[in-house]
Amino acid sequence: MKVYNTLSKRKEEFVPLKDGEVSMYVCGPTVYNLIHIGNARPMIVFDTARRYMEHKGYRVNYVSNFTDVDDKIIKKANEEGVDASVISERYIEECKKDMKGLNVKPATVHPKATEEIGGMIEMIQTLIDKGHAYVAEDGTVYFSTRSFKDYGKLSHKNLDDLRSGARSLLVSGEDQKQDPLDFVLWKPKKEGEPYWESPWCQGRPGWHIECSVMSRKYLGEQIDIHAGGEDLIFPHHENEIAQSEAANDKEFAKYWLHNAFLNIDNHKMSKSAGNFFTVRDISEKYDLQVLRFFMLSAHYRSPLNFSAELMEAAKNSLERITGCVGNLNFLLERAADGGMTEEEQEDAKQAETYTAQFDEAMDDDFNTADAIAAIFDLVKFANTHASERSTRAFLTALRDEIVTLADICGLIADRKEELLDADVEALIQERQDARKAKNFARADEIRDILAARGIILEDTREGVKWKRA
Ligand code: AMP
Ligand code: ZN
Repeated sequence: MKVYNTLSKRKEEFVPLKDGEVSMYVCGPTVYNLIHIGNARPMIVFDTARRYMEHKGYRVNYVSNFTDVDDKIIKKANEEGVDASVISERYIEECKKDMKGLNVKPATVHPKATEEIGGMIEMIQTLIDKGHAYVAEDGTVYFSTRSFKDYGKLSHKNLDDLRSGARSLLVSGEDQKQDPLDFVLWKPKKEGEPYWESPWCQGRPGWHIECSVMSRKYLGEQIDIHAGGEDLIFPHHENEIAQSEAANDKEFAKYWLHNAFLNIDNHKMSKSAGNFFTVRDISEKYDLQVLRFFMLSAHYRSPLNFSAELMEAAKNSLERITGCVGNLNFLLERAADGGMTEEEQEDAKQAETYTAQFDEAMDDDFNTADAIAAIFDLVKFANTHASERSTRAFLTALRDEIVTLADICGLIADRKEELLDADVEALIQERQDARKAKNFARADEIRDILAARGIILEDTREGVKWKRA
């Protein structure tokens, strides 16, 4: 498997630190509002990378943080007259709902910055002790970028240019910095802000330190993959590298993966620019599976432009996959038992080549665009090779293959478990009518169809009741 490493600007063979295991850290959202669909892109693409690695047999330890202390959270809390934690807890819950809708698996751990302050203070102290950080008069602690010789290795930027640019961006209070590129590890509290005790002043951490600390705590000093959107390369990830490597004297992450932006009218979608749709907005119009499909239809390193037309196209494409599986299920309910015929065995072998095609695409830096094309080739093959004459074994093999490949992408191809309430009610009514007409064969058949979809019927005096298994 090859992955593109921002550090080397090349595709590299993926070799994990520990055989059969992958440690992966993905920078998560700042929770002060509903997430927008740009924030959903890293969630979806790196969840898919995780699913693929798990499919290949790796045990993936996946950590993704919630930044729950930040200027924007505090501002919103002050506006509403509540504690900052009320805002962050509210939007963590909302974010988790969106993730569930997008079928993004929960991380192994979702640490929160406010619960890791002790670890941050400890790492900052280590950096001071080792001469990589200094305390300004007002108690602010800065990381000294000049003390870390590899500073700039991830973003491949010209540091002198950056320095002169940064000099003009200094804001009040920052004149105590020894270098314009130095960044804050700890800052003094301001009126009305949450704060913690520390050896330097009552205050709160800078943004970057949380990821270095949480990553080390939950995954160890060295990790395999660190990921996030490309806007995080500089300064966030560059600063994480400086902190972690200066504190631990070890290379931090082996592979740095970054997704390109989700754009709208060719501009980055962002809260600050106001050109965004929340995941919740989209969920009012579409099943979020459509949004997931749309995101995966492009390679994660290619910019992706959001539009209503592309969402419609994604909806239709996804329906081709679910429709094919629905048809296979329909045929399966009626198919004769028995093993595959010789001809079907040949066809099944041919069908497996699409899985190989899928794997090849995913092995090439998680090329989901080509992987989805392989699923479509398989769907086309299934549509032309499955019929009323097919055996149960053959139909099952085709269905399972499609469902498995879709599942690696986090797409639910087999929606039979998700029979809508209205469909269940309609089938129950049909069963009642069949019984009244003494068509017991049909009544039993409907009971079986419902049972296969996890619907349990109970005949009571008040009529038929049902529940999901
Ligand atoms: P934030 O809450 O802004 O820190 O963003 C959380 C994650 O979403 C980070 O990995 C960002 O890089 C990513 N992100 C934000 N906006 C976009 C966008 N328009 N397209 C792709 N990724 C984005
Ligand atoms: Zn981070």
